[in-house]
Amino acid sequence: MSFDVQIIGGGLAGSEAAWQLAEAGLRVRLSEMRGGGDTTPAHETDRLAEMVCSNSFRSDDAEHNAVGLLHQEMRDLGSLVMRCADQHRVPAGSALAVDREAFASEVTRAIEQNPNITIVRERVDSLPDHPTIIATGPLTGSALAEAIAAQTGQGALAFFDAIAPIVHRDSVDMDVAWMAARWDKGGKDYINCPLDKAQYDDFIAALIDGEKMPFKDWEKDTPYFEGCMPIEVMAERGPETLRYGPMKGVGLDNPRTGRWPYAVVQLRQDNALGTLWNMVGFQTKLKHGEQVRIFRTIPGLENAEFARLGGIHRNSFINSPKLLDRELRLVSKPNVRFAGQITGCEGYVESAAIGLIAARFAVAESTGNTLTPPPAETALGALLGHITGGADAETFQPMNVNFGLMPPPPGRARKADRKKAYTERARGAFADWLASARERETV
Ligand SMILES: Cc1cc2nc3c(=O)[nH]c(=O)nc-3n(C[C@H](O)[C@H](O)[C@H](O)COP(=O)(O)OP(=O)(O)OC[C@H]3O[C@@H](n4cnc5c(N)ncnc54)[C@H](O)[C@@H]3O)c2cc1C
Repeated sequence: MSFDVQIIGGGLAGSEAAWQLAEAGLRVRLSEMRGGGDTTPAHETDRLAEMVCSNSFRSDDAEHNAVGLLHQEMRDLGSLVMRCADQHRVPAGSALAVDREAFASEVTRAIEQNPNITIVRERVDSLPDHPTIIATGPLTGSALAEAIAAQTGQGALAFFDAIAPIVHRDSVDMDVAWMAARWDKGGKDYINCPLDKAQYDDFIAALIDGEKMPFKDWEKDTPYFEGCMPIEVMAERGPETLRYGPMKGVGLDNPRTGRWPYAVVQLRQDNALGTLWNMVGFQTKLKHGEQVRIFRTIPGLENAEFARLGGIHRNSFINSPKLLDRELRLVSKPNVRFAGQITGCEGYVESAAIGLIAARFAVAESTGNTLTPPPAETALGALLGHITGGADAETFQPMNVNFGLMPPPPGRARKADRKKAYTERARGAFADWLASARERETV
């Protein structure tokens, strides 16, 4: 074997991982199927780290925004993706947007010129037995996807995300909503937002009229309707459909009226911290702005802050909280690590960040060391912790980095001050973690 680690997939995560391993002195075989006769439905070139849609790495504000904070942590860890993005940024206010072609060319050049990396334009169809990082992204080649499904078991690899919106718990008005379970079975585990008939009728009309996102041509034929029909499609089937589905009010005594509500929206806890709650059964193709406008008409959610909005896309991702250990290794085959969007993180930056930390774990392991994961108070630690155990495996869906993944700072503060409290605490925690890892020579 003429390499120490094979990386499968030269996208955002695989490119970052290759760079990190190579800079630490490990020899890397980077297997990328584009340029070798294969491609995905979304990529247009054979460059590494191609951005398939928007040219933005989102907010670069490290003081008030979780993704901006993640940028900073990645820079501190010598990220290639961040270095190339900074080099090729274009004006975009406080966002970090880039010239996508120059960016991808720069990443490709850096990787090609690194003597520790060999790029092989090949498609990989099975799980290797040597140290490997799988970073094949949301559009993983189908033979490899089948091999991953066979290794991980029934239902552990999804081909579509059907995301219901996720709400920050502290933005729900609990003077209107209440905690209960249907028929009082089990604990009072759900937040219930009640609607009367007029509110329900208006809500259904808004769903039907709301602007929707179209499916891409290559997504249209993938069946998704059975398990996760969008709420607006249910609404179109008849005004009562939702009231007999996810919005049914039966068995839920509203303590303020002593009666069942005409209809209800239920929220279920989505992370171990209890800071994020998903709207049960509310997967949707409504445009994001429309979701915010329409969902804020639900009593109790008038001031809801959304950690993520709903969507339905083609997306291959594994049930990471169930399948991976804290260092992103497949529990059933620990020579294989996963990185990038296939782990259930979402977005260019998050994918590259998980590629970075997967590589750092692999480096530590190759030298007989153990790298302690970054703490949950940091952006990288919060994201990593979410996909490797903080998220509920039953409802696991892809997630962007956000403050709701971090333990809340003590006390109450105004919104802007609260964001600063998160980022100031994160900076300290990250610096301590980095200093301690460097002392033990694990990064
Ligand atoms: C249509 C679409 C639009 C998106 N828009 C955005 C957006 O605007 N903003 C955003 O932040 N995120 C967006 N995303 C999500 C985006 O894909 C990820 O954020 C990011 O590209 C994921 O990085 P990754 O490295 O995990 O996967 P990718 O960047 O997709 O890289 C995976 C690589 O693996 C290769 N590969 C796959 N299978 C094999 C195999 N069997 N053998 C060898 N190589 C293989 C692929 O060719 C690809 O180069 C979008 C995704 C899609 C599908």
